[in-house]
Order: sequence, then C-alpha cells, then structure tokens
Amino acid sequence: MSLTFDPVPMAPPPTTVTQAAIALGSNIGDSAAILKNALKALDQHPQVSLVCHSSWYRTVPVGPAQDDFVNGCALLETELAAEALLQLLLSTEQDFGRVRLEHWGPRSLDLDLILYGDQVIASERLQVPHPRLAERSFVLTPLAEIAPQWIEPTSGKTISELAGLLGEAGILERIA
Ligand code: ADP
Ligand code: MG
Repeated sequence: MSLTFDPVPMAPPPTTVTQAAIALGSNIGDSAAILKNALKALDQHPQVSLVCHSSWYRTVPVGPAQDDFVNGCALLETELAAEALLQLLLSTEQDFGRVRLEHWGPRSLDLDLILYGDQVIASERLQVPHPRLAERSFVLTPLAEIAPQWIEPTSGKTISELAGLLGEAGILERIA
C-alpha cells in the first residue's frame, strides 16, 4: 500500500479569539513600571494582544498591614484557553519576581483573570468571573473605565453597574 499526500497545503485550524479582562496590582518595587512592563510582556506572547489598559490607581491594601498598592486593569484578545491564559499570568508574575509569602501579603506583581468572554468557569485552579470582583473597588473602578458595558455573567449586571453599587472606598488617587 502506498501513501499519497494531498499536495494542497493544509489550512491552519480556525482560531477563536476571546476578549479577556485582567487586573494588575503591585506594592513592592517600582510598581507603576512593573505593571507597564508586565503588560508589554503579555502583549509579546504570540497568542495574546493587549487591547487597552485603564488608568493606574493608588489603593489601600487588603489583608495584612503593608504599603499601598498600585492597581489597574487591561483588556486582552487571546487565542489561549482560559486555563492557559491563567498559566501565562502566573508565570508572568514569577518572571517579575513574585514570591508567595503570606496570603494577600505584599507582592511585586499580582495578575488576576477577571472575565473571559461570557464564560463562567469553576474549576479547582480557576474561577471566572473572579469570585471577589463585586467587592473589589480596586478592580471595578479601573475596569469600569475600559469595559463599562461588559456584562458580568453570574450577576447579569454590567461592570459599570457593579462599580456604582460598590463605590470607590479604598481608592486613594488616580495616578495617571
Ligand atoms: P489573590 O489574587 O486573590 O490575592 P493569589 O494571586 O495568591 O490570590 O492567587 C492564588 C490562586 O488563585 C492562583 O494560584 C490561582 O490558581 C487561583 N485562581 C483562581 N481563580 C483565579 C483567577 N480568576 N485569577 C487568578 N488566579 C485565580
Ligand atoms: Mg492573584
């Protein structure tokens, strides 16, 4: 039996591009520079492109006493599945020197996956929408700047509505 090969080059498999929202935070080192460089690093991934980012905010830390945070959010378009995107976020945290010492303690870089299209994911490693989204002004305030009409699929409310319900307690100043 002889094998025959199709002379027509195979078309690449179709790709699905999903919009994702991420939250960034830092309170060790030159936080503003770390957050900007983390976005550059994510944008360099072949299956991720940075759409836009919010202003940066100085915010009150949650958890043990520690320095103020710098927080912001970004929108990405990605061909990565949600789990693979989380993996990229966690490895980017490591690249920027994050060491996990204490829960909710200080960190040079925290990257959280907030929304992934309209998907609801509840696996052991990944919960999307981020389960504490509705109680975090340091996520909702910047996210409402760049994605006010995005519907959070578990509540059915827009980001703008959720931000309005929570208010801006904990937001100290808009940096830039
Ligand atoms: P937090 O961001 O709440 O302060 P960590 O950054 O220490 O907590 O995250 C701890 C773990 O949370 C990660 O290892 C990850 O597996 C898990 N996790 C679950 N859902 C998410 C999500 N949507 N975004 C980021 N991490 C998540
Ligand atoms: Mg995190």
